[in-house]
Amino acid sequence: MSAPVQNEQALGRPAALSDDSGSGGARRQALFRALNEEIRTIADGFAADEPLELVCECERAGCFARFSVSHQAYESVRRFPTRFLIRLEHRSGDERVVEKTTGYAVVEKVGPGAQTAILLDRSNGRAEARRS
Ligand SMILES: [Zn+2]
Repeated sequence: MSAPVQNEQALGRPAALSDDSGSGGARRQALFRALNEEIRTIADGFAADEPLELVCECERAGCFARFSVSHQAYESVRRFPTRFLIRLEHRSGDERVVEKTTGYAVVEKVGPGAQTAILLDRSNGRAEARRS
């Protein structure tokens, strides 16, 4: 029987391993979310009825995919700290698709990633928003 050994190995793995990649991705997402907030703030000053040119909020390092999102759609996503705007094909395992459009998808973090997203939203996102 090899299954118990595999389980033991999985449990024996230092939490830091999964935690590392997890928080790195989550931090990236929080950063890009803050960036999109900035884009929105700037866009509001110019043409509020033009769609927003946002960057992909996926966990992939080095992803700079862009897509257009209407202000209304953006606002409705930002109401949830666990939701992100990404390219559908960039979805990671702990993200559930909430909505699909031609240019992008709205995903919701599930599991431990959701808590991280909420924490990072409080520490980064909200502070950024309050400043303006
Ligand atoms: Zn991406």
